Amino acid sequence: MTDKLTNFFFQKQEDIRPLFESQLEACGVDYFDIYLMHAQGADNFAYFKKCRAYETALELMAEGKFRHFGISFHDRAEVLEQILTEYPQIEMVQIQFNYVDYENPAVESRKCYEVCRKFGKPVIVMEPVKGGNLVNLLKNAGAVLEELHGGSPASYAIRFAAGFEGIMMVLSGMSDIEQMNDNVSFMREYRPLSDREMEAVRKVREIFRSMGLIPCISCRCCQAGCPKGIAIPELFAVMNTKQLYHDWNADYYYNVIHTGGGKARASQCIKCGKCEKACPQHIPIRRFLEDVAKEFEKKPEGV
Ligand code: SF4
Ligand code: SF4
Repeated sequence: MTDKLTNFFFQKQEDIRPLFESQLEACGVDYFDIYLMHAQGADNFAYFKKCRAYETALELMAEGKFRHFGISFHDRAEVLEQILTEYPQIEMVQIQFNYVDYENPAVESRKCYEVCRKFGKPVIVMEPVKGGNLVNLLKNAGAVLEELHGGSPASYAIRFAAGFEGIMMVLSGMSDIEQMNDNVSFMREYRPLSDREMEAVRKVREIFRSMGLIPCISCRCCQAGCPKGIAIPELFAVMNTKQLYHDWNADYYYNVIHTGGGKARASQCIKCGKCEKACPQHIPIRRFLEDVAKEFEKKPEGV
C-alpha cells in the first residue's frame, strides 16, 4: 500500500507526524510499502525543505513506518536532478510519461526519465493514457491504431510506457472492471511495441500536436487554490471539445458548468496565478482562460 505527503495538509514540521499517523489509521495498516513526497517541483520542494518534510519522512522510515521512500514529480528535469542530488535516499520517482508528452517541452517526460536513469532510480509511470485522452481518440487518430488490428487504444499507450528500461510500474488509472480486464489481457504476457506500432503512435502524437489543444489532464491540482473557484479543467475540456468538434454542445455545457454549482466564469479570473504554480502541465492557465472567455462569453447567456 502506498500513500503520499501532500503540501495542502501541513504548515510546519510538527504537523507531519500526526498527519502520517492519521493516514495509517485511515488505511487500517501499521506501515506503508511506499511513501511518496507528493507533486515535487521547484516551489513544492522548497516548501518541503522549509518544513523539513524529507527529514521527518526519513525518520518515520527508520522507525519502520514505511518500507520505501519516493517522490512524485511534476517539473523540469533540472529540478529533478537537484532533488535527487540533495536526497540520495529517494528510492523511486513517479513521473508523467506517455507517448504524446514524451517530447513535450512543458512536461519533459523523456528528460525526466533520463535523469531517473542517470541516478539509477526505478520509475513509476503516471498518466500513461494522458487523463483518458489516449483512450477516447479522435476518429483520424483512432483509425491509425485500428489499422494495426492489435488491441485497444489504451493498450498501445500502456505498452509504450512499460517498454522503457527501468520502468517499475505503470499506473493505468482504471475505473471499471472492463478496463481492468483489458489491461490484464495485454500485460499478462507483455510485449513491447513493435517498430510498426511505434510508428503508429508517433503518427497519433503528430495528430495531437496539429490540433493545438490545451494539454489539460484534468488532475485538478489547480482547483484547491483558486480563490474564485473557477472550474478550470471543465472549462478547458469544453474549449477542447469546441476545437475538436466545433459543435454547439460545448456552448451548452459551458453554461451548465456555471448554472450547476454557481461557479465563477472564465472572465472572472483575477489573474493571481496560484493555479499555474500548481499545474503539473505548466499550462498558461490565465492566458487560456482569456481565450475561453472570448470563445464562450461573447454571446448572451443561454444562447
Ligand atoms: S489566476 Fe485565475 S484561475 Fe488561476 S487561481 Fe487565480 S483566479 Fe483562479
Ligand atoms: S489546468 Fe493543469 S492543474 Fe488544472 S486540471 Fe488541467 S492539468 Fe491539472
